[in-house]
Amino acid sequence: MDATRMCALLVGLPEVTIVDVIDHDNYLLVTITTPGPASACCGVVHRHGIREVVLVDLNSFGRSTRLAWRKQRWRCTACGRTWSDENGEIGSPRCALTTRAARWATVQVGQRGRAVSDVASDLGCGWHCVMDAVVAVGEQLVDDPDRFNMVNALGLDETLFARVRPFRQQCWSTQIVDVRRGQLLDVVPGRSSTEPCRWLAARTDAWKASIDWATLDLSTSYRNVFDTMLPRATQVADPFHVVRLANTALDECRHRVQNQTVSHRGRRHDPLYRAQRRLTIARERLSDDQHEKILGLLRCGDPHQEVWFAWNAKEVVRQIYDHTDPDLAVEWVAAISRDFVDREMLFEVRRLGRTIAKWARQICAWHRSRVTNRPTEAINNLVKRVKRVAFGLTNFRHYRVRCLLYAGKPNWDLLPTIQP
Ligand SMILES: [Zn+2]
Repeated sequence: MDATRMCALLVGLPEVTIVDVIDHDNYLLVTITTPGPASACCGVVHRHGIREVVLVDLNSFGRSTRLAWRKQRWRCTACGRTWSDENGEIGSPRCALTTRAARWATVQVGQRGRAVSDVASDLGCGWHCVMDAVVAVGEQLVDDPDRFNMVNALGLDETLFARVRPFRQQCWSTQIVDVRRGQLLDVVPGRSSTEPCRWLAARTDAWKASIDWATLDLSTSYRNVFDTMLPRATQVADPFHVVRLANTALDECRHRVQNQTVSHRGRRHDPLYRAQRRLTIARERLSDDQHEKILGLLRCGDPHQEVWFAWNAKEVVRQIYDHTDPDLAVEWVAAISRDFVDREMLFEVRRLGRTIAKWARQICAWHRSRVTNRPTEAINNLVKRVKRVAFGLTNFRHYRVRCLLYAGKPNWDLLPTIQP
């Protein structure tokens, strides 16, 4: 077997001729050419010079590798059109990586969730080379129209995706989730109703008609999205957010009583400060000792039993989700809406009661739909992992493509057909 053929086998690209292999200090430089004018033209086609592009390739035998592609330029004598050799399987214009390296980098960053800097150092190239390739390949994977099919329960959830200088201003994004399958459908910028509405408007009517349940946190903007775009779907308030609201009311009450009784923020030996963690634990998960401890701490730090009251209110709200019978749940929520807003009640509890009354329909709908927020939570964890690996992302486009590759269940079987 001749040497050129052996080289070609090692390089493993279709229809290329290996011209040269040079050992540089940091990398191996493999020079290749591709055969003949791929396309004919109206007249006689002549050679019109050579242009060499250098691409980052997969490592060979543990060494960084560069592929120098000597592209022949061609010119038609009749019309004067010029063009160069192209082969999408080797590399694409505007991508610094070879096609196979770009696909590999997309798997590493998108599927395995590795850091871009990590992959870049493996290949011996810059961060931007890798990220641009991941975007070029990844966007085709995540924008594949068959990535998700009909959805029965759609959820919207806000997430903080970045804090940007100079004032660490918060940048929000909205996750659109299939809450039954636990698939991240898309990520859109902002947490207002504008972008989710635009996203839903781009879907087909049949797709929108298949949605029976629409889950949301207790935010008016998402309610507007569903009211305008999915009027047929039943809105469901996310249990996690309802319970969190009750915990916030308890927290605010504790802060207020703390300030009124000792007139400073909580310190290590203050009874209310010491009760802080235990108060958020669910009642049924408290041991008898812990329960006694809370009561003791509240006796010391809560002279008018206000925190004790807010704590019980929180537990009453949590009990909404103990009910298995939808009708009983409706009664329970109605009782909360009625009792909590009583004049005698604490300010924090009254406010909690008003919010629950406002969202009563959505809160009770959960008992019929049984769409849990657990898939959304799981997706949030995946997204958090993406953010942690990247040490924070500030570019929304990069953020979207990385989240969707990691949590959006793209069809990875399509990868061999995708060129950057
Ligand atoms: Zn021509």
